[in-house]
Amino acid sequence: MSDTTFTPRVFSGIQPSGGLTLGNYLGAIKRFVSMQEEDYETIYCMVDLHAITVWQDPKSLVHNTRELAAGFIASGISPEKSILINQSAVPEHAQLGWIFNCVARMGWMQRMTQFKDKAGKNAQNASLGLFGYPALMAADILVYHATHVPVGDDQKQHLELTRDIAAKFNHDYGVDFFPMTEPVIEGAATRVMSLRDGSKKMSKSDPSDASRINMTDDADTIAKKIRKAKTDPDALPSEAKGLEDRPEARNLVNIYAALADMSVDQVLAQYGGAQFGTFKPALADLAVAKLAPISGEMARLMDDVTEIDKVLAKGALQAREITAPILKKTYEIVGMVGS
Ligand code: ATP
Ligand code: MG
Repeated sequence: MSDTTFTPRVFSGIQPSGGLTLGNYLGAIKRFVSMQEEDYETIYCMVDLHAITVWQDPKSLVHNTRELAAGFIASGISPEKSILINQSAVPEHAQLGWIFNCVARMGWMQRMTQFKDKAGKNAQNASLGLFGYPALMAADILVYHATHVPVGDDQKQHLELTRDIAAKFNHDYGVDFFPMTEPVIEGAATRVMSLRDGSKKMSKSDPSDASRINMTDDADTIAKKIRKAKTDPDALPSEAKGLEDRPEARNLVNIYAALADMSVDQVLAQYGGAQFGTFKPALADLAVAKLAPISGEMARLMDDVTEIDKVLAKGALQAREITAPILKKTYEIVGMVGS
C-alpha cells in the first residue's frame, strides 16, 4: 500500500479513429463531464497516437481529431475547467510509453483481449503499436499521476495492466512514485452493444454504420437505426431480471436509462409490458432530444476550427507543466543521464 498521497486527478482519452458514438458518449464522455464538476483536476485527451495503431488516412485523422475535440466541448467539457489535449502534442506520453514498454512483460500483453479482438485472425499482420497499445495507455495515465480514470467496461483489463505496470516500476526501482489508479466504470451504459449484434460492443471503427448511433447522425437516421435495431418478439419485462437472457432488449433499455438518467427498474416500471413498436420510437425521441443539441454545437464549432486549435494549443502547454516534471523524475529514477 502506498503512503504517498496523490492529487485527485482524472485522465481519460478517446481515439480519433472515426466519429463519436453513443457508446463513447454514455460510457465515457458523460462521466467526463460529471467528474469535471467534482473535486478533481481533469485532463481529457484525443489519443491520436493510439488511433494510428490501425491505418488512418491522414486527412481523416486531422478531421476526426478536431471533431472529437468539438464533441468534448459540445458535450459540456469546459476548456476553463478541464485540460483538453491532443496526445501527440504532449511528447511525454510517448516518452514514458517507451519506458513502460521496458516494464511490461510479453506475457501480460499477450493476455490483452482488445489486441486479440482487433488483430483478429491476421495477428501476424497487426502493427507492433497495436500490441503495445496498453503500455502507452498506462503512460497516458501515469504521466499525470492520475488517480481516477473514467472509461467504458471494455477498458477494465487495460486499467488492471496500468496498475501492474505502476506496481512493477515502483517495486523494481524501490520507489513509491506512480499511483495505483482507480478505474471509474459506472452508470447504466458502461458497455453499449452493437444495434445489429447484442454480443458485440458498439464501436466507432465497426465497418457497419447501422451497428452504431453516431453523435452526428440526424434525427431521421437515429430513428431509422433504432427502428431497425435487432430485438426479439417479446414485450418488455417489468423487472431487470427479465432482461437477463435478452441482450438486445437489455441494451436498448440500458441506453434509455443512461440517456434519461433513470435506473433500469424505473424504465421498466414505465415500459414493462410494452412492445418494441412502442418502446423504440420513445427511445428514438429521447436519443434525438439528447444528441441534437450536442451535434448542433459540434457542427458550429467545426465551421471555424481556429477556436478548437486554440483550445488544444493552450491545453498542451498546461499539460506539459504536469508531465515534464514527472517524466524528468522518471528518467532520474531509471538512471538516464542528461535529462
Ligand atoms: P475503436 O473502435 O476505434 O476502438 P471505440 O468506439 O471503441 O473506438 P475508443 O476510443 O476505443 O472508442 O474508446 C473511448 C472510450 O469510450 C473508452 O473509455 C471506452 O471504454 C469507451 N467506449 C467505447 N465503446 C463503448 C461502448 N460501446 N460502451 C461504453 N463505452 C464505450
Ligand atoms: Mg475501442
